[in-house]
Amino acid sequence: MTGGAALAPDALGPTVTVGEILVEIVATTIGEGFREPQPLFGPYPSGAPAIFIDQCGRIGGSAAMIGAVGADDFGRLNLDRLARDGVDVSAVAIDPDLPTGSAFVRSRADGTRDFVYNIAASAAARFGWTAPVEALVTRAGHLHVMGTALSMPSAAAVIERAVGIVKGRGGTLSLDPNLRKELRPDPATEARFARLVASADLLLPSGEELERAAGVAGEAAAMERLFALGVREIVLKRGAAGATCFRPGAAPVEGPAFVVEEVDPTGAGDCFGGAYVACRRLGMGVEQALTYACAAGARNVSLRGPMEGAGTRAELDAFIAATERRG
Ligand code: ATP
Ligand code: MG
Repeated sequence: MTGGAALAPDALGPTVTVGEILVEIVATTIGEGFREPQPLFGPYPSGAPAIFIDQCGRIGGSAAMIGAVGADDFGRLNLDRLARDGVDVSAVAIDPDLPTGSAFVRSRADGTRDFVYNIAASAAARFGWTAPVEALVTRAGHLHVMGTALSMPSAAAVIERAVGIVKGRGGTLSLDPNLRKELRPDPATEARFARLVASADLLLPSGEELERAAGVAGEAAAMERLFALGVREIVLKRGAAGATCFRPGAAPVEGPAFVVEEVDPTGAGDCFGGAYVACRRLGMGVEQALTYACAAGARNVSLRGPMEGAGTRAELDAFIAATERRG
């Protein structure tokens, strides 16, 4: 087929994502880590999958999340934000024992960042295939997977089961590899990742993740390999240089970046992905979806907090009208 939609329409059922829900607490000064008392700002709702789905819902896509929070204010903060932005949280479990996951982050002068995480031993990693999860997955239209979630065995098991059900009912799959250089996945995670790449309809890599997903060196060879595997659309994210969409047999479509002052880079890729998936599923063409996605990423980096810049369609329209775009 030519020009056929790569993703199942919004009407088939919500876009569902699976993974960590966290609060983020941000150091307001630049320096090295957390070994002395210092001013902190937060908590902010966070977690890459949560940021993705929040932007997806906020722009008007039907959206739902699978994950877990603790029975505490950090959990309530996240649930309230997701619900406010239109995300169905019926499959987010409230763990009676463990606290909500958290991440403390401080930037260094050279732009790198130090983190203190509480994820693996928090509610964020307490997954299971519950009745609400089953009910949601069996009416889902699209599944979005963050590579980071695959390193949590409990989340990986839910994802693998959900892929079969969603694809089996005509739904589609997107994958943001989101592999940090520092993370060296074990062979089992690597194998899960490869299986997901082979089932994905849309890939949203950044930087060297493209070649890593393909297992082949060179941008062109990597694309060719991924298209041969059945991927129908690849959107390569390039930070402040924007993004480009590649499809087999079609000319690439450029998404020039908007010119903003980067205040907090966290969440750009997640907001970009949430907006892109929602817009494509709502029937927009690649160019329009890229415009909203680039706007969502740029707007989010211009505000402090990982998902504070996620925009409604009206907010993004206003941002687009008011913001210069690179040539
Ligand atoms: P993350 O660091 O959140 O994982 P990512 O590496 O997946 O992000 P990026 O390429 O950093 O993704 O950002 C996604 C999109 O957001 C970019 O393609 C661009 O459109 C927009 N964006 C990100 N940073 C900036 C910036 N400084 N100025 C303008 N737009 C930006
Ligand atoms: Mg980035």
